[in-house]
Amino acid sequence: KKQQLKQIVSVKPVTKDGKEFELSANISSLKELDVALGSGTNGVGLFRTEFLYMDRTRLPREEEQYEVYRSVAERLDQKPLIIRTLDIGGDKQLDYFELPEESNPFLGYRAIRICLDKTELFKTQLRAILRASHYGNVKIMYPLISSVEEVRAANALLETCKQELRAEGIGFAENIEVGIMIELPAAVLIADILAEEVNFFSIGTNDLVQFTLAVDRMNEQISHLYEPYHPAVLRMLKLTIEAAKRAGIHVGVCGEMAGDLQALPIWLALDVDELSMSAHAILPVKERLLTLKQQDARSLFDQLLRCSTSAQIHELLAASQDAPI
Ligand code: PEP
Ligand code: MG
Repeated sequence: KKQQLKQIVSVKPVTKDGKEFELSANISSLKELDVALGSGTNGVGLFRTEFLYMDRTRLPREEEQYEVYRSVAERLDQKPLIIRTLDIGGDKQLDYFELPEESNPFLGYRAIRICLDKTELFKTQLRAILRASHYGNVKIMYPLISSVEEVRAANALLETCKQELRAEGIGFAENIEVGIMIELPAAVLIADILAEEVNFFSIGTNDLVQFTLAVDRMNEQISHLYEPYHPAVLRMLKLTIEAAKRAGIHVGVCGEMAGDLQALPIWLALDVDELSMSAHAILPVKERLLTLKQQDARSLFDQLLRCSTSAQIHELLAASQDAPI
């Protein structure tokens, strides 16, 4: 099987009727980059930077971060690299960074909320990313966005960092693209407004499912309620992708659903631009993609939208997976 998959490493990810996808990798370490490159990745659709901050005793300095971002950017050789700014809090804690005790950490002080509060910490990371952008095709992505104000505040700090670097004579990509994760229901519902502010969306289905269904993604007692194929989630995906399309911006998916073979017809039908997944999923996803038609996916998706239960949705998706090619 592995041998068989190896043969499609350099095959274009395109359906039988010509819809092409960008299949990218989610990475959170340099080691994962090797696997991704070996799978013929289009680029890195999600670089989780938390690992730089974890398992240590103090915040990483600008220089340290810059070295890591730069080496990833260089190894990707002009392939896109989306660096997500710090997404701690919730389930991800830092020993040296005192986060308040909270009764609802997932709804609490985390991610972009911390970055907009501790602006020096945020600026250090933004400067490191900007400096690395001089050496590759680097883009910035903000997590857990819930409002236009947050995007503007983050972009204002980014602008300050650019001015500083200019004054210091340090190179960076002047037109670096900025995007946001769509992972909160609020962001989905104002996706048309948010689309005016950014260059791209990336849908974080892990959190989007959690927050749409109010099901803690870490709580095993209710894991049976964590249902990516819930009719409400499908509607969230549809709203987001359609808003991006209408605004003419790039839209990707970077949660676990992006690498789920079952979900492929959904992305095809909605015409997403990019799927970013664990590097191991790239070739299996491509293998199935090569057997599908966008046109078939569209009619299947129309049926999915009429389903009233997740069970029905699963049934239809499974049937399409078993259908002979
Ligand atoms: C997501 O929420 O879907 C996502 C990709 O980010 P993380 O899993 O790091 O929260
Ligand atoms: Mg998330």
